[in-house]
Amino acid sequence: MSDFDRLWVWNDDALAGALGWYRAVALNRKPAKFRIARAIPLGLALTDASEEALWAELERLTPAFVAKWRALRDGAAEPAPPAPAPTLLDLCAELAQRMLRHCNFCRWNCRIDRSPPPGKTGAKLGACKLAAESRVSSHFHHPGEELVYRGTMGSGTIFFTSCNMRCAFCQNGDISTDKDNGVETSAATLAAMAWLLRLEGCHNINWVGGDPTIHLHTILAAIALLGNGFVPEKRALAAALVTRADRFDWYEPAMRNGSYAGAFNAPMLWNSNFYMSAEAMRLLRLLMDVWLPDFKFGPGRCAIELARTPRYWETVTENLRLLRDWGEDFTIRHLVMPDHVECCTRPVLEWVAREMPAAPVNIMDQYHPDNFCDPGNAKYDPRYAALARRPRRAEISEACAHAKRLGVRFEALTHEKQRLGFLA
Ligand code: SF4
Repeated sequence: MSDFDRLWVWNDDALAGALGWYRAVALNRKPAKFRIARAIPLGLALTDASEEALWAELERLTPAFVAKWRALRDGAAEPAPPAPAPTLLDLCAELAQRMLRHCNFCRWNCRIDRSPPPGKTGAKLGACKLAAESRVSSHFHHPGEELVYRGTMGSGTIFFTSCNMRCAFCQNGDISTDKDNGVETSAATLAAMAWLLRLEGCHNINWVGGDPTIHLHTILAAIALLGNGFVPEKRALAAALVTRADRFDWYEPAMRNGSYAGAFNAPMLWNSNFYMSAEAMRLLRLLMDVWLPDFKFGPGRCAIELARTPRYWETVTENLRLLRDWGEDFTIRHLVMPDHVECCTRPVLEWVAREMPAAPVNIMDQYHPDNFCDPGNAKYDPRYAALARRPRRAEISEACAHAKRLGVRFEALTHEKQRLGFLA
């Protein structure tokens, strides 16, 4: 049994029950979802078909995918061999490219064409301020995510630049508010990053930002490469190492860390603000093995006033309901903000208790004034003075007490770092 399998958190029924598929893929006991999509052939030619026809094909094949995934998850089936190209995996990548031409990756629904190369046209930019290029700020074995994700070898985390929300207090403001941060990264370089992190022992590939949704086309193209026998050339590996934050640490890469039935295997983790469009969710459903949604703001005006984001509550709750209805593996993060326990923490926890009482929640106490809320930052805006402090101990205690009263499953994720030792 591996150290990852012996983590004490797996003795927690809520976590073991909620993350069974993810855990099995992380241990290479099951093929990742992208491997299942790779086994389903298409009934049309990708390049000739209209976008409407491609969506219809996705609609037609999704039930077959779900049936195969559920049978594998329940141990009732053997994985199917790869199908001749093009497959459902290629279809997902192609649809993301088509969406880029009228971008509706997220709920802003800007409908602008992000596909022309920069400088070639006077293309407008959407709320995320991005054209077609994706930039990676850093990637590494993340030692700070929840224990179920960081495990013993770290979470293979890839940080993208820019964001589709405008949280005044953003805890990653250096990359989310600076679209030019980092290095322009192709799908092949991205695949090389993921490939190496996994072979070095990372328990998952953690797509995050800023927000990963605005880079959907590049991420899905990288996953399609990984599912189609990709092995990085030296040039792609060298390009990948430019943004590698822990490149001077030594990890021994080995195929056994990331292979299933002789091909690359890794659980894909969607670590996002969950402001995705319904169309993005339909694609991600077929490729993400586990989800890590942020659920920050209550149903009032806080998302508008602190993040300039309309329709936040309805979008995030709709997407969370999809995870529940689809039977996906996920854990929820809620960051407790100063003076926002009544308006945000309470309604978020009450919604979770009502709609998905089995969902594991991490009630995060690490908020610190940052970005426009940090008086020591040149960007500081006095309008956010109420957020220029850490939450009081009483606020964190009230958040946890309310979760306990509601029966929310939060203890294991929220308090795990206070426990000595991580193996059972
Ligand atoms: S990703 Fe979202 S914010 Fe960016 S252009 Fe597309 S719809 Fe607009």
